[in-house]
Amino acid sequence: MRARAAIIRETGTPWEVTELELDEPKADEVRIRFVVSGMCHSDEHLRTGDSVARLPMVGGHEGAGVVEAVGSAVTRVAVGDHVVCSFIPACGVCRYCSTGHQNLCDRGAEMATGKLGDGGFRFHDDAGNDLGGFCMLGTFSERAVVNQASCVRIEEDIPFEVAALVGCGVPTGWGSSVNVAKVGAGDTVVVFGAGGVGMNAVQGAAYAGAKNLVVVDPVAFKREKALEFGATHVFADAGEAHEAVVQMTRGQLADHAICTVGVLTADVVSAAAAIVGKGGQVTVTSVGRTGENQIQLAAGGGVVGYQRNIQGHIFGMSNPLYDIPRLLDLYRAGRLKLEELITRRYTLDEVNQGYQDLDEGKIVRGIILHEG
Ligand SMILES: [Zn+2]
Ligand SMILES: [Zn+2]
Repeated sequence: MRARAAIIRETGTPWEVTELELDEPKADEVRIRFVVSGMCHSDEHLRTGDSVARLPMVGGHEGAGVVEAVGSAVTRVAVGDHVVCSFIPACGVCRYCSTGHQNLCDRGAEMATGKLGDGGFRFHDDAGNDLGGFCMLGTFSERAVVNQASCVRIEEDIPFEVAALVGCGVPTGWGSSVNVAKVGAGDTVVVFGAGGVGMNAVQGAAYAGAKNLVVVDPVAFKREKALEFGATHVFADAGEAHEAVVQMTRGQLADHAICTVGVLTADVVSAAAAIVGKGGQVTVTSVGRTGENQIQLAAGGGVVGYQRNIQGHIFGMSNPLYDIPRLLDLYRAGRLKLEELITRRYTLDEVNQGYQDLDEGKIVRGIILHEG
């Protein structure tokens, strides 16, 4: 079968929209027709080379669509089911899945190669190159073959546009506040970076009961938007935010800082560590450039003396099979903003425009509407 897809052949070059050959699903695999794909920053990390992956690769790891074909051993989904793809598969039986840490599933080991179970690739170009799908998905393709462990079935009343967002960015941000930081009622929380992930850290912290919810973002449009998502104070830079947090907490500083900037830097981590008080936690959600050290802190007064905790995580410590339906239930109940995250819709051919808009701070979340 043929499928149009946006791929990266070489880091530093633009997304290339091309037609690929797609294999039939093997025993425990399914073919999905993606209706909508989210445009997460991590795909752009792949393109710029900030993250290292096997190339060429089909981009995209936030997708919702319809199951079109299933292999002989598939039990989780059936043809015609609406599904969201989790950006980390959840096999259900590895050490991590079976202890309630599906975000650490061993199956995630091939996310940067896109290899499926038997070591093979399901996408091929006309020159004979094999391509993986990013995060073993490749939602920038109209169709993809994925392992059933990547699929979460959803109810048919959920629009695909919002469903696509709960495959990565929303659970990562929401989970940063709710699962990782475990924000409590009355806490003071500072969120660094209010993009597609950070905006959900804001709404998660608001839902969990933060009293002071401070957002630091240099982009005016994102600061305004953050106020709609529950922020109580917004600042363009960390220094101003620090002064304000000193005032609003009578010098006790924040309970939590959450780093959800586009590209993590040592400056952001240092500002985050300095803004939390005794026993406070810095939650590190973003990734930085490969080969750089972003966490450089003095142990003495800063970390040991104040008993500060620095906590990294992936996917907001979410269990996709539980958290994705849970978030969609909150959306249905009007308690989680999802449509409001979508600033612009693009065709597949406009993928480079979409990432340029993201880079220029014009959008919180862009989505691709597939036409295939
Ligand atoms: Zn993502
Ligand atoms: Zn697993």
